Amino acid sequence: MRNTKAIPFNIPYSASKCAEYVNDVMNSKKLGGNGKYTQLCHDYFENKFGFKKVLLTSSCTDALEMCALLVDVKNGDEVIVPSYSFPSSVNPFLMRGAKIVFADSLPNHPNIDVDKVERLITPNTKAIVTVHYGGISANTIKLRHICDENDIILIEDAAHAIDAKHEEKYLGSIGHLAAFSFHESKNIQCGEGGLLIINDEKFINRAEVIWEKGTNRVQFKKGLIPYYNWIDIGSSFMPSELVAAYLLAQLEELEYIQKKRIAHWNLYYKLLHRLEAIDKIRFPEIPEYAIGNAHLFYIFCKSKEQRLNLEKYLNSMHIKAFPHYTPLHKNPYFVDLYDREELPNSITTSNCLLRLPLYVELTNSDILNISNLISSYLIK
Ligand SMILES: *Cc1c(COP(=O)(O)O)cnc(C)c1O
Repeated sequence: MRNTKAIPFNIPYSASKCAEYVNDVMNSKKLGGNGKYTQLCHDYFENKFGFKKVLLTSSCTDALEMCALLVDVKNGDEVIVPSYSFPSSVNPFLMRGAKIVFADSLPNHPNIDVDKVERLITPNTKAIVTVHYGGISANTIKLRHICDENDIILIEDAAHAIDAKHEEKYLGSIGHLAAFSFHESKNIQCGEGGLLIINDEKFINRAEVIWEKGTNRVQFKKGLIPYYNWIDIGSSFMPSELVAAYLLAQLEELEYIQKKRIAHWNLYYKLLHRLEAIDKIRFPEIPEYAIGNAHLFYIFCKSKEQRLNLEKYLNSMHIKAFPHYTPLHKNPYFVDLYDREELPNSITTSNCLLRLPLYVELTNSDILNISNLISSYLIK
């Protein structure tokens, strides 16, 4: 079978009003952060998803750094994080002196195995980070119960998870704190950007201070105090209005973007699922409570060798397919520091997972073409 059209892995979505809104900011001569567009983005998230309080950040990594500051992670505190994730799930806590306790994935899904988390908890456990891989919720409600029983803070690394749900609850609303990413690889993007979500009221005031370089400038801007001062530690976490304006245009098209992505996801599944019945590949097990957002479409190959071969074959056909994370405890930075139990599911996931192209501009015939190539390669 031949394929002449090159299919990239991702094309960041470009909303129709991005340029108009960015121009508006340029003309307003108010380019710094926390202006009109930042407020409009905040209103959008608080109204649409029911989040108690949000703060736009320059990245999801920044939002997670704010989480580490808010939780007040200190030397020796332990933070439980799934090994199958991106370094930003752990770096913010390592930077505050935390000891990272890596957790394994489920056997049939990259997400954290919630049933095995309790035995990782010690009196020093300060926080648990959960990652909603591909926009699918781990058993986040159960994880929140476990955290509440043990007086631990739950942080959702919801980088993948905008508009996804656990039953009726939007992801990002279940943890004490949560973080979204608007990196160009995510469903809604502004190049680089993120969002801190604060569901536990006790963190709100301090979050606004940390966001504004450790000053009470947010209160000053609201007219609540005559001057602003340096009152805590903090950093420069807020993005420029240029970024917020670009992001708002994307948010206004969220419904369209999601409709397209979900249709693409469903078509891939329809065309490929029979390969599972004949034992050529596997699909992740999606729990009934998880309502996904089609952030990623991926398959589990039967072995690392099969994944490498299929990846190479698709690339030779000009179709970009990629594996994803190397388990964090196996990365060069950590491999020599790691002295705990093996995490076999995380390793198998890393070996076998293969992501296929998924973005709004992908066409049905692209998906048909990719699926046919995979089927004929595996059945030959
Ligand atoms: C993309 C991603 C991040 C980092 O997001 P940035 O906005 O690039 O900082 C963190 N965690 C996960 C799971 C991600 O996929």
